[in-house]
Amino acid sequence: MATVSIPACTSALLLDIEGTTTPITFVKDILFPYIKEHLEDYLSTHWEEDECKQDVHLLKKQVIEEDMKQNRACPVHTVDQTVHTDEEKAIREVIENVLWQMAADRKSTALKQFQGHMWRAAYASGRIKGEVYQDVVPSIRTWRARGLKVYIYSSGSVEAQKLLFGYSVEGDLLELFDGHFDTSIGAKVDAKSYERITERIGCQPEEITFLTDVTREAKAAEEAGINVVVVVRPGNMELTDEERAHYNLITSFSQLQLTGHA
Ligand SMILES: [Mg+2]
Repeated sequence: MATVSIPACTSALLLDIEGTTTPITFVKDILFPYIKEHLEDYLSTHWEEDECKQDVHLLKKQVIEEDMKQNRACPVHTVDQTVHTDEEKAIREVIENVLWQMAADRKSTALKQFQGHMWRAAYASGRIKGEVYQDVVPSIRTWRARGLKVYIYSSGSVEAQKLLFGYSVEGDLLELFDGHFDTSIGAKVDAKSYERITERIGCQPEEITFLTDVTREAKAAEEAGINVVVVVRPGNMELTDEERAHYNLITSFSQLQLTGHA
């Protein structure tokens, strides 16, 4: 098995999730379908709870303040639980709004927050378990034993990351990570995000090795001076010949060789 050496100066590993620690299909085939399939059930069960009321309020606010302003062709509703007497109808409206946002691939805060709460309930009850490739946990343990720090950088929110690893197929893995970053620090294809992460970790960029399946992210990290290894997993986007030639590639974390680490 071909190994890839990481620089001896490496003090931290920064890991992407989808396509890197976790099958790219997890979000698409497990998490998103879960929302669609359990929306009605979730809303009916939690409708009277404060958190759910706040989520609904935020969804409504977004429709009024953003979507209507931009003349988006979205279902416009007057979802207001304080005046609504027909709960079933109100729930139906929220379902339509959420499904519309998901179909339009909206990344609104309102949608993300609501989905996050649904997933939290699903993870906590054991109906969803975060998937991680088999080589991930043993490799991270090895790196940590050698004094390396391990961080996550994913476009999923920090809360979603913690759920995935906190309720994973291999149990609670949160102790394996020194910190989590999401797009609140910046887009994953923007070199500035990696500069900020470097600052937050408190080291030099060349001390960080970033593992990702997406070459646009790899390029941005490289621009920031970070060492990059591209992870090739089943179902990941095909790399061009040029990309294959340019990047160090691994198909398993166990292929990373730590040179000069005790
Ligand atoms: Mg990825």
